[in-house]
Amino acid sequence: MTHTTSTDLLSQALQYSLQHQPAMLQTLQHIVEMESPSDNKAAVDKLGEYLAQEFERQGGRVKFHRAEEFGNHLQVSFPGTAGQKPVMLLGHFDTVWSMGTLANMQFRVADGRIHGPGVLDMKAGIVMMMYALRALRELDVRGHRPVTIFLDTDEEVGSESSRPITEAIAKECEAVLVLEPAQGLQGFLKTSRKGVGDYNVRVHGRASHSGVDFEKGRSAIVELARQILEVTKFTDLDRGITVNPGVIQGGTRSNVVAAEASVDVDIRIARALDAGELERKFAALHPFDPDCRLEVTGGLNRPPMERTPGTVRLFEAAQALAIAMGMNLGESATGGGSDGNFTSALGVATLDGLGAVGEGAHAAHESIILEQLPRRTALLAGLIATI
Ligand SMILES: [Zn+2]
Repeated sequence: MTHTTSTDLLSQALQYSLQHQPAMLQTLQHIVEMESPSDNKAAVDKLGEYLAQEFERQGGRVKFHRAEEFGNHLQVSFPGTAGQKPVMLLGHFDTVWSMGTLANMQFRVADGRIHGPGVLDMKAGIVMMMYALRALRELDVRGHRPVTIFLDTDEEVGSESSRPITEAIAKECEAVLVLEPAQGLQGFLKTSRKGVGDYNVRVHGRASHSGVDFEKGRSAIVELARQILEVTKFTDLDRGITVNPGVIQGGTRSNVVAAEASVDVDIRIARALDAGELERKFAALHPFDPDCRLEVTGGLNRPPMERTPGTVRLFEAAQALAIAMGMNLGESATGGGSDGNFTSALGVATLDGLGAVGEGAHAAHESIILEQLPRRTALLAGLIATI
């Protein structure tokens, strides 16, 4: 695509999005008000059906991937130039917000912001997908790749059931655009994400009466405390490795030497290379007190999304489009994971953070910046047409 065409397309797509802003807001309100916590299959499925209808109306071919425990995952295919590999638009429609949150956190538009549970993470991103594709269709933009949308329902709880589907679709695609929230209020794109994992270290000690039989006891709590100091040493900030003992449990009463204690540990790594080392270190933990026994489980859930040449190319394409629209678009690294981690680890060029600009994901002040919504939608349309 020549420079002039892409500038024309961008301004037309922006105009289209601005004209359709009221409709976008209506759709956004509707899907925010259809609450969809990851653990409520019935509610999530209802939203999935609604989204499927909307995409179908726009000419998409819908396919549900049945899930037992979670809502059914939604795949929608849109046609493009025959013989070309599709662009994948990736996201999720589950949220971290439990049913009924809406009562105290209504959808509302105020002071240039849109508030509501899941509005930033990532229901606005889904509305952007809809309207970017509508813009391309109604503006009669030709010659772009086919588009495959995949929206899963378990991202907020680790993506265990959707991961194989995400990976299978991504393998067939040229590039993956992730509509997760942008980074910070500047709206930066995410070109790298840390890998995420968790471990549980459990100590089995020996209970005894702390007054009568103190010497016979083997305190799981004392042993666990020492183990926590050990795993804390695995943190290496220079290499982007963090190890966080986040939750501890143990003991029954203060006058009982504790028989059991455990810690949940969150780990983050910047480079895939470091996964093995961390795994070995956890596996090598051994009890200080030989009468205590350790049980270590866990591992990496999401590999890191590294800043690969493919990702950089996508980012540079997005940045050039942003500049043409008078926007300043930077890139950033984040410690948080997304489904983009999976696609990137497969070697498919992945660009993340293309969704809404806002703040407060997973927090009571979750909101997006209204004026960025049409701009980012136009940017997405331009990017789909450019790749
Ligand atoms: Zn998200």
